[in-house]
Amino acid sequence: MALSLIYDLPLSELTTLLDSWNEPEYRALQVWQGLYQHFWVSLEQFTNLPIALRHKLDTEFSFNALSPVSILRSSDKQTVKTLFKLHDGLAIEAVLMRYEKRRTICISTQVGCAMGCVFCATGQMGFRRHLSSGEIVAQVMHYARLLHDEGDVITNVVVMGMGEPFHNYENTLAAIDRLNDAEGYNFGARRFTISTVGLVLAIRRFTLEKRQINLAISLHAADDALRSSMLPVNKAYPLDEILNACRDYTLTTGRRITFEWALVNGINDTPEQAHLLAGKLKGLLCHVNAIPLNPTKGYGGEPTTQRHANLFKKILNEYGIPCTIRLRRGMDIQAGCGQLASKD
Ligand code: SF4
Repeated sequence: MALSLIYDLPLSELTTLLDSWNEPEYRALQVWQGLYQHFWVSLEQFTNLPIALRHKLDTEFSFNALSPVSILRSSDKQTVKTLFKLHDGLAIEAVLMRYEKRRTICISTQVGCAMGCVFCATGQMGFRRHLSSGEIVAQVMHYARLLHDEGDVITNVVVMGMGEPFHNYENTLAAIDRLNDAEGYNFGARRFTISTVGLVLAIRRFTLEKRQINLAISLHAADDALRSSMLPVNKAYPLDEILNACRDYTLTTGRRITFEWALVNGINDTPEQAHLLAGKLKGLLCHVNAIPLNPTKGYGGEPTTQRHANLFKKILNEYGIPCTIRLRRGMDIQAGCGQLASKD
């Protein structure tokens, strides 16, 4: 049987456990700081612990959640994508993107995804399983360690990799809470962004929790017929229901919401879609993040052109809706989510 993963434990549970082993109170904090402040991955590195305790931890826990099996670097060296094997042999991806001063990592919350968005390589794989909170935490710690060795730090974490984070709500939020722990990694909640396809009940739950975490919605279309053809989940949660939940979110929390839009040539990058979208977003505290489609094997759509993208942005701006056209990163290493893990 596989060992429990040490990253699955919050500090409170680790403390209770070590207490039950008759260890002094400060031991749990030593383990915690070893994991989250020194980024140790092997028990040999915990030289501040007695050997007997190290042995005991070794028999109970795995400290190695992820085995990197393939690492790809973009030609400009700014994007690094890692394919990790999990304990059961399944694979997930996490990506580091370096911008000028930002070091953003994009992490996964599931192996595969049940949402079936037609343009997405992960969606094309289908759903395999949820990641545990520890497996989500371990992706961040992998890159934290890598950057630490270069004298650098992660500045932002986007939960936009493989999987729908709100389909794995408890584990995703537990992972963020663990990384946010002031006695451990202490990564600010405001530096996380969760991206969802619009699971309305989860958005409402998230709203009531009034967290500092940023929320992004993958919208991609401004009418139900088009959106349902791209994101099957739209049949369960139509656009107006999602946007009502978004409106309540911004009113309750006072926080701006981001709408993600993958611009597909001739499909959703048209002036009609831009006008329709502007009408739907009227009065909503929001920002539109549009990005040319990252092509995948299983979808015939093409990325937008520069001219269409600029016009789309211009129309939204005319209605007073802020819109950014983002650059596609890591195209040469298939940095779009699921593209590596779904390779034959
Ligand atoms: S875009 Fe996100 S939600 Fe949609 S299938 Fe891909 S991973 Fe799942």
